Amino acid sequence: MRICRFTDPSTQRPAFGAIEGSEVFRLEGDLSAGNLSLERSEPSIRLSDARLLPPVTPSKIVCVGRNYREHAAELGNPMPLEPLLFLKAPSTIVGDGDLIELPELSRRVEHEGELAVVIGRRCRRLPPDEDPLAYVLGYTCLNDVTARDLQRKDVQFTRGKSFDTFCPVGPYIVTGLDPSDLKVETRVNGQVRQSGRTSAMAFPVAHVIRYISQAMTLEPGDLIATGTPAGVGPLLDGDVCEVEVEGIGTLRNTVRARAPEPKESLTDV
Ligand code: ZN
Repeated sequence: MRICRFTDPSTQRPAFGAIEGSEVFRLEGDLSAGNLSLERSEPSIRLSDARLLPPVTPSKIVCVGRNYREHAAELGNPMPLEPLLFLKAPSTIVGDGDLIELPELSRRVEHEGELAVVIGRRCRRLPPDEDPLAYVLGYTCLNDVTARDLQRKDVQFTRGKSFDTFCPVGPYIVTGLDPSDLKVETRVNGQVRQSGRTSAMAFPVAHVIRYISQAMTLEPGDLIATGTPAGVGPLLDGDVCEVEVEGIGTLRNTVRARAPEPKESLTDV
């Protein structure tokens, strides 16, 4: 099943839907409220009439750093012995087709194409005999956009990872997917920059979910960015960046240099 969030043309409000071919069937409820129904309701609307929104509105975005050996090596970092976690602000979220804005404060913004996990059920302190994948609603594509210069300068990751528009996600959530060996590819202006397989992760998806759940409660709609393969590189004004995950689809965003803030005019004072 392919689950999207869209602006319902009849109510002008956000709704969830199931995409089938060129149609969208409405789904009742809300993922973040934990009451999303996967029962399709009639009638459908045309996909071309539904403006797609980011498929999730997470309470948090938990990211795994250095989960691919070659990527850790390209940044000169050792491999962690346990998953290295950090957070992105939920206000970074944008959807397929939205702009990635380059902030004036950074001179080096980079793409990180990743497989993202969408949590479907609340989970907390998962015991060893519980299957973490049973708490997953599905998977989507994510671009963990990073101001690399600020990440290095600040030592920790918060600011460099959390500028507005720094988390393109989508275009939709795919259910019933086995995450253990999927191709993850990032292209800039059609040129392949990153290409890896999730089978190369140091810490597989199930391990990561169980590990995170020992520290914090994962809520329905929360996102886990599972780490990026080697090949991270700069994003420049006008670039079109695509993250494609096998079995899901392609997340496409255009990059724009953020226009300078208008200077306050003295005559207005
Ligand atoms: Zn990342």
